[in-house]
Amino acid sequence: MTTEATKLIIGNWKMHKTSEEASTFIQTLSSCFSSPPKYSEAWLAVPFTAIAKAAEAAAHSSFPIRIGAQNMHDAEEGAYTGEISARMLKEAGASFVVLGHSERRRLFFESDEWIHRKVVRAIESGLRVILCVGEDKGEREAGKTEEVLQRQLLTALQGFSEEIQHVLIAYEPVWVIGKTAPAPPEMIEKEHLVLRKIVQAEWNNTLAKKIKIVYGGSVNSDNAKTILEEADVDGLLIGGASLSLESFSAILQGK
Ligand code: PEP
Repeated sequence: MTTEATKLIIGNWKMHKTSEEASTFIQTLSSCFSSPPKYSEAWLAVPFTAIAKAAEAAAHSSFPIRIGAQNMHDAEEGAYTGEISARMLKEAGASFVVLGHSERRRLFFESDEWIHRKVVRAIESGLRVILCVGEDKGEREAGKTEEVLQRQLLTALQGFSEEIQHVLIAYEPVWVIGKTAPAPPEMIEKEHLVLRKIVQAEWNNTLAKKIKIVYGGSVNSDNAKTILEEADVDGLLIGGASLSLESFSAILQGK
């Protein structure tokens, strides 16, 4: 769990913005604040081609902005046409990678086991990991949310010990991604507690308290503040609303 000021505001740009657009966005975002924003750290998961320019722009920002990627391959290198490695991401300027996003699971058939291999490679390579977990509508309606969260989390992180500190968990209920309203705050808090209990049972209480759990799914500048007020929410993973300077800066400012 985190104090209010250290809650993380993370944007996931998906397949949006060229490197020029990314650079201009970051320069303008940085100039929006004469003093550091309320939530002091922003992370942006940008397209591969924008990482280098985004990292360059972030290095000149008036407050900390970390740049990361939205996926990677688990192999060190090899004959994987169209893929990208952890080493390439780091060289380009990424300090973290989003793994297990529901769009990767659903549209690109990524299994829990494959995601696990990616997490292993990312951590070995010194990248922080944002591990996305979350139930779909059918799983929630069938009362399987906890079972799904347990399976996704424990498979992705099997074999790890203290290194799970380098992983941020993103609870993203699939049924609210890209919609008009997020999950109700009480539900978010409940599922974050479920995730902490899984960490406590599999690892220990210290790690359960330490691990950061952020929420994602239809967050915007009208609802972010209420979700961030929940004690077990350590930050937000924001898709659509992170593409607009107006909404992303308003969220960072705690409006
Ligand atoms: C996401 O895809 O990670 C996400 C949270 O998207 P949105 O905020 O648009 O629901």
